[in-house]
Amino acid sequence: MPVVTRIAPSPTGDPHVGTAYVGLFNYALARRHGGRFVLRLEDTDRQRYQADAEHRIASMLEWLGLRPDEGPETGGAHGPYRQSERLSIYRAHAELLIEEGKAYRAFETPEELDAMRREQRQLGKDPGYDGRGRELSEAEQARRAAAGEPHVVRLRAPDEGDTSFLDELRGEVRIPNAEIRDTVLLKSDGYPAYHLAVVVDDHLMGVTHVMRAEEWITSTPIHVLLYQAFGWELPAFVHLPLLRNPDANKTKISKRKMDTSVESYRQQGILPEALLNFLGTMGWSMPDGREVFSLSDMVAAFDPARISLGGPVFDLKRLRHLNARYLRDVLSLEALAERLQPWLAERGLEGADEDYLLDVLDVVRPRAETMLELLDQTEPFLQQRLRYDVDARRRLAAGQAYLEDLERAFAALEWFDDDDVDELLRTYVQRQAVPMGKVMMPLRVALTGTTQAPGVVDLVVIMGKERTLDRIGQALQAISEGLPDDDPERLKAEAEAAAKEAQRAKRGRRPIGATERS
Ligand code: GLU
Repeated sequence: MPVVTRIAPSPTGDPHVGTAYVGLFNYALARRHGGRFVLRLEDTDRQRYQADAEHRIASMLEWLGLRPDEGPETGGAHGPYRQSERLSIYRAHAELLIEEGKAYRAFETPEELDAMRREQRQLGKDPGYDGRGRELSEAEQARRAAAGEPHVVRLRAPDEGDTSFLDELRGEVRIPNAEIRDTVLLKSDGYPAYHLAVVVDDHLMGVTHVMRAEEWITSTPIHVLLYQAFGWELPAFVHLPLLRNPDANKTKISKRKMDTSVESYRQQGILPEALLNFLGTMGWSMPDGREVFSLSDMVAAFDPARISLGGPVFDLKRLRHLNARYLRDVLSLEALAERLQPWLAERGLEGADEDYLLDVLDVVRPRAETMLELLDQTEPFLQQRLRYDVDARRRLAAGQAYLEDLERAFAALEWFDDDDVDELLRTYVQRQAVPMGKVMMPLRVALTGTTQAPGVVDLVVIMGKERTLDRIGQALQAISEGLPDDDPERLKAEAEAAAKEAQRAKRGRRPIGATERS
């Protein structure tokens, strides 16, 4: 029998890292066994439904490379894959159970149910449906339903005995049936409740392994009762450990404490393969203990039996470190340059000479943890005209004399290789008898507009003679146009404008790198 897995997210907003996590494991299991990976949208909660969320889920899976074999966009033999398009299927299945006496129509009003719960609380009982609707004869149920009276359909859950199932990671889970209420299967608006929809769909879609987050484990006994009521074979159940915040109590990962949005990581420039690799280490590890592994490595080695239950921590620092390893060691320079193209285009920096870009990336990539940082550090190398902030101008002004000397010296230098540039700068600094930084800082600012940049020798060599001279020339011109202390008012206005611009850029940052993975 082929292995069939699925994810069943609800399209209610920003795709969550938890969905990516569960998606990865389901994808890996299906691929490992040459089976099918299904995407089903659980969109029956119309209050929380968001129209664009469906597209965002599809785009997240595409970006991560977790392409479903069947789903709303892909199609497939077991559709439709949106629950809202399967209402008649759920209704037919609910009716089947009613006919067999395994479910019934219940007509209590919300007020009546409230009163019931109040009474239960007063008597010190756990509030919950007490099965009072079971008393109504089948004929009476049918008559009231035909008369258009609002009602729900409830499962007739057994009162005696236990319900148990095998959780692949935890072993047998058993609960007394007395704890399971007559749960709602079909709501009064004709929409299915989660329990009915999930069981009917998993069965009809041929799902063999239900692998989902741990928080659903308490629902599984109800599902088991439904499988039994329909006379269907149970799938295997695997409940994945919840991702935890890196706080002392290791609480469940939540938006309040942690960035849980996949889109946000994408915008910051976390690579899809680094995010997958990171998620792949949540409760799972490669048999050989390797920390860096690709999706296909994971697929080839995937075995759910190796999932451990010790609360995996979603540690952002680790994610960034892992991403840095991809930028630095895993991707070739050429691949990195290609990945950076859409980011460069966003800032109007496309079309750079390829060899030059590769040289630049070679020196900046050890200093970046994300694509955004890589972009920020690459930008000054590619800009035609640099903008100097207040601090940069001050540093330039302080080094004016050195810059003038160095402009002449570089103009006369024949070979722009590491040794010659290094030698020139070293001798010059010695002759001036000043600390190294006094000369290097203004030069660094002249070449890049910033004080944070790789070693100056690297900068000069990569930029080459023409660019180096052009930049020193621009810097000297900026100095002569206005020394920083000339006009404090202007400097203040400039600083304010720059801060505003930075704020705007932050707010208006759009998803980028849509073509990153092909
Ligand atoms: N719609 C549920 C969710 O959002 C699916 C739970 C399940 O996989 O059964 O996670």
